[in-house]
Amino acid sequence: MSKIMAVNAGSSSLKFQLLKMPEEKMITSGIVERIGMKKSVFSIKVNGEKIEETTSIPNHGNAVNILLQKLIEHNIIEGYDEIAGVGHRVVHGGDKISESVVLDEEKIEYLEGIIDLAPLHLGPNLTGIKAFQKVLPNVKHVGVFDTAFHQTMPEEAYLYAVPYDWFANHKVRKYGFHGTSHKFITQRYAEMMNKEVKDVNLIIAHIGNGASICAVKNGKSIDTSMGFTPLEGIPMGTRSGNIDPAVVEYMMKVKKKSVKEIMNYLNKQSGYLGVSGLSSDSRDLVAASKSGNHQAKLAIDVQAKRITDYIAAYNNYVGGADAIIFTAGIGENAIYTRALIGSKLSSLGVEIDDERNDCRGVEKKISSDKSKIDVYVIPTNEEVMIARDTMALL
Ligand code: AMP
Repeated sequence: MSKIMAVNAGSSSLKFQLLKMPEEKMITSGIVERIGMKKSVFSIKVNGEKIEETTSIPNHGNAVNILLQKLIEHNIIEGYDEIAGVGHRVVHGGDKISESVVLDEEKIEYLEGIIDLAPLHLGPNLTGIKAFQKVLPNVKHVGVFDTAFHQTMPEEAYLYAVPYDWFANHKVRKYGFHGTSHKFITQRYAEMMNKEVKDVNLIIAHIGNGASICAVKNGKSIDTSMGFTPLEGIPMGTRSGNIDPAVVEYMMKVKKKSVKEIMNYLNKQSGYLGVSGLSSDSRDLVAASKSGNHQAKLAIDVQAKRITDYIAAYNNYVGGADAIIFTAGIGENAIYTRALIGSKLSSLGVEIDDERNDCRGVEKKISSDKSKIDVYVIPTNEEVMIARDTMALL
């Protein structure tokens, strides 16, 4: 039996899950928040109960130390040597990393060289990795990359039609994100159907606060809606998804704002929040929409329309999907939104069964027996995927 730690480090937070492998059983999970701020918060689940304390945690190194001490204090482990490996979620692997890798000096150096591709996330990811490596120098640290699963996209899918030099010399291309989730769903669907991964064609709608659609052909990603950054694609909680790039220059002039300020609107003030003027949270919008709020309804309608545009295009690109899969917060829970998306796919012969669709957070077929394409809800589990890849590399 091995215990694997799955870690997701952000700029001021560090999420963790300790898993028993190969059983894939969660032993504990928790989060350190507000690292480097006045009052940091550490929370951990012990026997299913959340224990929270406010303390001073100046940096990621302290966060790792406290987290490991707490595991011992709460009798979750007896010593650090029980942790067989640490898997780190890493946002970007650039154009060289197409699968999970052991994070040696050379790999870390490569990642430091591509920080500009994802400055908000990759920097903090690396800080977390180094902090863990310092405290646990004798175990393997594995990087599991959000972009890796999409490295199988063909040139025609990942290349933007811009001057070729932008790609050749400046790495401008579609990378795609949420790859760990799309890969987990692909493997899980194959397992559920008793098929080999190479025999499945899917369209996966990972719809959470961030959202992306993935076209999977023969078990591999051949296109996805997020691009050079996670801003491209469908509208999300606060991100706009695709817009005409000319809007940026126009709004800079009209509002007398800098590029940075306009990008901030597109990343943080758009999507559900921007259109509804109310909230970035799907639950608020569904409730408001049901009580007659037009903009709340519109925010959901605009997103659903764009999602179905992608699904129809990807169904063509994969040569006919075996199934459409809904996952992540909204995909797993928002009954209304799933039904709405299904109703916009009637030309593909998709039919959602209202009774089957009346479910949250469970693995289930929600299409009717007449539906030409099966539709499933499959809860994602990125931590299990991280632990699996880490085990495989130990
Ligand atoms: P994620 O980023 O995957 O955690 O997803 C967050 C989104 O899932 C938010 O918009 C939530 O409102 C949405 N969500 C979570 N639970 C529900 C629910 N029961 N009904 C509708 N939306 C939900």
